[in-house]
Order: sequence, then C-alpha cells, then structure tokens
Amino acid sequence: MKKIGVLTSGGDAPGMNAALRAVVRKALFEDIEVVGIYQGYDGLIKGEFELFELGSVGDIIQRGGTILRSARSPEFMTEAGRQKAADNLKAEGIEGLVVIGGDGSFRGALELSVYGIAVACVPATIDNDITGTEFTIGFDTALNTVVEAIDKIRDTASSHERIFIVEVMGRDAGDLALWAGLGGGAESIIIPEEPLAVNEVVERLKQSSERGKQHSVIVVAEGVMSGDKLSQLLKEEADVETRVSVLGHMQRGGSPSARDRVIASRYGARAVEELQAGQQTVAIGMRNHQIVAYPLQDVFETKDCLDMEMLKLSKELSI
Ligand code: ADP
Repeated sequence: MKKIGVLTSGGDAPGMNAALRAVVRKALFEDIEVVGIYQGYDGLIKGEFELFELGSVGDIIQRGGTILRSARSPEFMTEAGRQKAADNLKAEGIEGLVVIGGDGSFRGALELSVYGIAVACVPATIDNDITGTEFTIGFDTALNTVVEAIDKIRDTASSHERIFIVEVMGRDAGDLALWAGLGGGAESIIIPEEPLAVNEVVERLKQSSERGKQHSVIVVAEGVMSGDKLSQLLKEEADVETRVSVLGHMQRGGSPSARDRVIASRYGARAVEELQAGQQTVAIGMRNHQIVAYPLQDVFETKDCLDMEMLKLSKELSI
C-alpha cells in the first residue's frame, strides 16, 4: 500500500485528533503517503483532499474536536454518492481509508469497501456503543466531564437539600450514564438497557429520606427520556420536586484525557498496520487491554451487552 486516506465522521469525540495524528505519523514512518480528507464522507465526495506531512498533525494531540472537521453526509447514503467517493479516491491513487467515527460511519465504510477500497475503522464516540471493543475514543474524557459535573451538582444539591436530575448523552447506550452514575455516586441511574421504573426511583428517594438524607442525584440517559420529562413524572406521580440539569454538548468537548490519547494513538497506528498487511474491511478495538483488529461486519451482526452488574452495584452502594 503506497497511499492511504484518513477522515473523521459522524458525531465528534475528544481524542479524534490524537487518532488522526497517529494515523499520519505511523503511515509516514512506514513510507506510506497519507491524505487528510476534510468534512467526513462529504469531503470524500467533494474531493476535499490534502496531502499531509509530519507537521500537518503537529500540536493537535491535546486538542478536542477534530481538525479535519466532521460531518453527516446524506449524499453518501446514496449509491451515486458512494460511487463518486470511490472514484475520487481511485483518481488520487488512494488504496485504503482509515475512518475515525461511530457506528454510522463504520456502516458507511463497509458500504464503501464494496467499491474495492480497503477500510480500517477506528472507534470514536463518547457513547462507547460499538460492538467488539470495550472502549471507544472519547468515552473516558466524556465520563470525566460528567463525573465532574455531578460532583458540582451534588455540592449544591446537598447544601439546599434538593433532588437533582442530571440528563446525560446516550440515545441507545447507557454506558456513559452508568459509569458516570457509579463514579459520581448517583442515588439512581436510569439507562435504556433497563426499563424505567419511576416507582423504583420514588421508593429509593423515600428510603433515603427516611434515613434523613434529603438530597439526591438521579442520572438519566437522554434515550430513556429527557430530564424535564422525568421531573414532570416524579411531580405527577409522587409529588416530588426536582431540579434538572441538562449537560448537553459540553460532554463532547474538551481536551482528551490521557487515557483517550493513548488509546487513540494505539488504535490509529494499528489501523495503518492492518491496511499495510492487506486487510480489506477491518475494525480496531480493545479487548482485555489488548489492541485487536476484527472483521468490520462483526460490528453489525451482534450487540455487546452492558455490564448490568455495575447497575446492580450502584444500587447497593447508593441509597
Ligand atoms: P456516527 O458515525 O457518529 O454514528 P452517523 O450515524 O451520523 O454518525 O454516521 C455518519 C455518516 O456515515 C452519515 O452521515 C453517513 O454519511 C454515513 N452512513 C451512516 N450509515 C450509513 C449507511 N447505512 N450507508 C452509507 N453511509 C452511511
């Protein structure tokens, strides 16, 4: 392989820059030319290409977001769009592509591989919801951001004896809510993987109150319901007053944690190695602390389960 491309796509995540840096530097180290593609799959279709050098990715390892910018590309969802993208890559002499993104971006990469482009996918999403890997880039940073927010909210909750609902990101996956809830000592955690029992939340609040504890933090993943909706339900069903804090997009930003940078660097380099070894459709991830490469198709054929023991533990520890 003489020339590869790299892009970031879908929802951004802290650590994408660190992964990009690793892809570029590892490729150049291996004497492979590397082209940065701007704006995700949109840039692939529009030909927004730039030949990168070592210096192109200097001073970015610590920066949040992605210097390549990210995009959602409806045009790439069409066959004509993907054909154009593949033609552009071939015209540039690019034989392999590293895609840094979430599962939507992975699906796009799989579709692109049909046109004879080798793809290596690097998981980057704060949701940590990609099958086959224990960690995605950005999850650790977002987790720390949320725990820090919970700590601050807890200070005011306890000073004023209030019940706070903290709404965190996670449409279909409860990883962020669960880890942050456990790490932040939340009294209740509500995630998509376990059906919501408002009664149970009320019961837990009652038990706390009987113990003399008047403040509480409830973490809810946005995919279950909004914090406002939960607040309304608690008011209607149990006459419980709550305050709501929606963390929103701050969860996606910020300088990546050391762990995210290290993982991103290792994933990025491995993606280049896999392309160099002739892999056609591969995903990179981590299992038992080892970096692994596995068939991209596996991401869509099964679904990893969340560790429900963690939810059970959080219930045992926080009351
Ligand atoms: P993420 O990668 O964060 O999950 P999205 O789900 O928005 O983000 O996917 C990013 C982009 O990947 C989409 O805008 C689209 O261009 C491409 N993509 C997603 N699903 C498919 C698909 N089934 N076929 C082709 N391209 C897709």
